[in-house]
Formats: sequence, structure tokens, C-alpha cells
Amino acid sequence: MTINSKFIALKNYIPIGIPKEEDFEINEIKISLNQKNEVLVNNLWLSVDPYMRARMTEKKNYKAPFELGKPMEGAAIGQVKETNSNNFKIGDFVLSNCGWRDKFVDNESNLKKINTNNLPLQSFLGPLGMTGHTAYIGLYKIACIKKGQTILVSSAGGSVGSLVCQIAKINKCKVIACTGSDEKVEWLKNELNVDYAFNYNKTENLVLKLKEIAPDGFDVYFDNVGGDFLEAAIYRMKNFGKIIICGRISQMNATKPSVGLKNMAHVLVKRLTIKGFLIFDHENETEEFSKNMIKWLISEKIKIKETVYEGLNNCPKAFVDLLNGKNIGKMLVKI
Ligand code: NDP
Repeated sequence: MTINSKFIALKNYIPIGIPKEEDFEINEIKISLNQKNEVLVNNLWLSVDPYMRARMTEKKNYKAPFELGKPMEGAAIGQVKETNSNNFKIGDFVLSNCGWRDKFVDNESNLKKINTNNLPLQSFLGPLGMTGHTAYIGLYKIACIKKGQTILVSSAGGSVGSLVCQIAKINKCKVIACTGSDEKVEWLKNELNVDYAFNYNKTENLVLKLKEIAPDGFDVYFDNVGGDFLEAAIYRMKNFGKIIICGRISQMNATKPSVGLKNMAHVLVKRLTIKGFLIFDHENETEEFSKNMIKWLISEKIKIKETVYEGLNNCPKAFVDLLNGKNIGKMLVKI
């Protein structure tokens, strides 16, 4: 049977600045099961992620730019509707990377079956998905956190950041969380029980603020934003501290070229380690992460918050709003 499939595509490249909804279009194609081992999936939840911004310019990043007018790659969870595969049956839930579409056909080798363990399906895009894995690997494998350390987290009210805060608390670290709205600050303080949370939009001098909160400095800075915040954190690191470069969202949409850090002397004198990582290099290291994250979610040691937009046509709005800080926790689109 041939059916219509709708998808969101990029209409034009966006070299600088925050994308607009008009930079995207909704397209339609016919799809059907033709080959052996193909599966037709109805999507239920779509992931909205900052890294997609890097593929919206013509410049090659760590992945090639999205093709204009074509479906964009991106994580989604759906349910099998038709199948030519012995490994997937109708009704199975699957994780795919076929992007913002309502339905698609793909080979079974590109799909991962999900056993929900009675957890919400969409948590496999958040804490049990790429963002949870990023927080876990960043803290345990890259930062090698230890009990009692003081950890500074930026974009702490977002998906990766809120999980970093909670995993660090589970490991008995002192957590200082920074984010862009009072609502996120309240959530971090009252529900996630971080040791201190503040709104960077209301902070005039970041270096002085960080000094006031943690006079002895930070052992680890989990950097999701780059730019001025990174520079301020470098001033306040302890000797032999570690800075984990997870993201640079403040620079992704910048309209002026970024300037270099002015305080590299502090990196030298304090013997700091600055280390970047990409979660794609750790795809085979999910076993321990999944086991622990499922345990923490079931015992409610980790709490989830989501910002959910309804309908495929709202993907561009969800993406623009994510880059403008309107999400709390994981940004998702429900179909
Ligand atoms: P978030 O849920 O944190 O959403 C993005 C947030 O970024 C916004 O809510 C906003 O929060 C913040 N933000 C936007 N613009 C700025 C700015 N100019 N300055 C400071 N903060 C800004 O997204 P994710 O949790 O999915 O991702 C967090 C970071 O992790 C991103 O940088 C992303 O690229 C990175 N990442 C890296 C991976 C890796 O492999 N290294 C994998 C996955 C994500 P606020 O209100 O606090 O400003």
C-alpha cells in the first residue's frame, strides 16, 4: 500500500543568527514497503536538539549540512505499522534517526526496538536517550567526578544540564546551576535540590557572582554554552580543575565572529584541563548508563521535566523556541 508521508525540511541555509520558522517548509512524499527487511513506522515523539543548528549552515561541521528540501536526520520514537522484517512486528516501539516526519519506511538495521520498562515512551529521547547519555558520559568518563567536588553547570534548566545536576547530586557533589529564567531557577532549587541556582540574565558581573557563590572555586565546570560564561568560569576554577566542553550554544547563533578567550594564562597557572567530547564517539558505551538511568527514574532519584509542542508542523517553532531558551527540560514534539 502506498501512503503519504509529511516531513519538515530546511528551505534555505542560515549562516548566522537564530533561525526563523520561515526557514523551514513542510513537504510530502509517497512511501510504501518494497524491500525485504523494511519497516513502516508511525512516529509518535520527535526530538528537538540544539546540535541540529550546526547542520543548518553550508559549512561542514562534524556532520554534513542538511540537504535543502529533504528530510533532516534526528531522533524520533514511533510504532511499527507494517513490516517486511522478521525482527520487528506490528505494534513494536522503535527509536529511529529519520528526523521530523509523521511516517517513514526504513531498513530494520537503522531501527532500535524499545522495551519501555513501563517508563514513558518519550523518556527514550530524554534521560534514556542521547541527552541523558551525554550527561552521564560527560560526568563519569570525561570529568571523572568524585564525591564532594563542587560542580558548575550552565544551561542547567535544559535537558542535558538538568540531568548533569541530578547525576552530580546522586554522586554527592555540590552543584551550582546557572540558567536563563526565574522559573528554571525555582525548579532547579525546589525540585532538583541543587545547592545554588541563579539566572545569568540577572547577573551583572558573572565572575564576581561565581566568587560570591563558591569562594574556593570549582573542581569541574560542565560547559553547555561557551563564550563569556566559559571565560568567567576559567577565572573561578580551582587548581587542576576540569572544564568539560559539551556545547557552545551561546556561539551557535552569534551574529559576530567569536573572539578568543582572554584568560588562557589562568589555564596555564591553574594547570586546568579543558576537554571536549561528542557523544557519537560513545555509542557502544550505553549498557551501564541505561541500567543506572532506568534505576534512578524508577526510584525517582532523577526527575524529568519536558516541554511538549503538538503536531509535526510545530517542529520549527519548537526549534526556534529551544534556541531562545523557552524550554524547561527536554524539548519534544508529540504527533
Ligand atoms: P537545552 O535543553 O539545554 O536547550 C537549550 C538551552 O540553551 C536553552 O533552553 C537556553 O537555556 C540555552 N541557551 C540558548 N541560548 C543561549 C545563550 N546565548 N547563552 C546561554 N544559554 C543559552 O539543550 P540540550 O540539553 O539538548 O543541549 C545542551 C547543550 O549540550 C547544547 O549546547 C548542545 O549542543 C550540547 N550537546 C552536546 C552533545 C555532545 O555530544 N557534546 C550532545 C547533546 C547536546 P537558558 O534559559 O538556560 O539560557
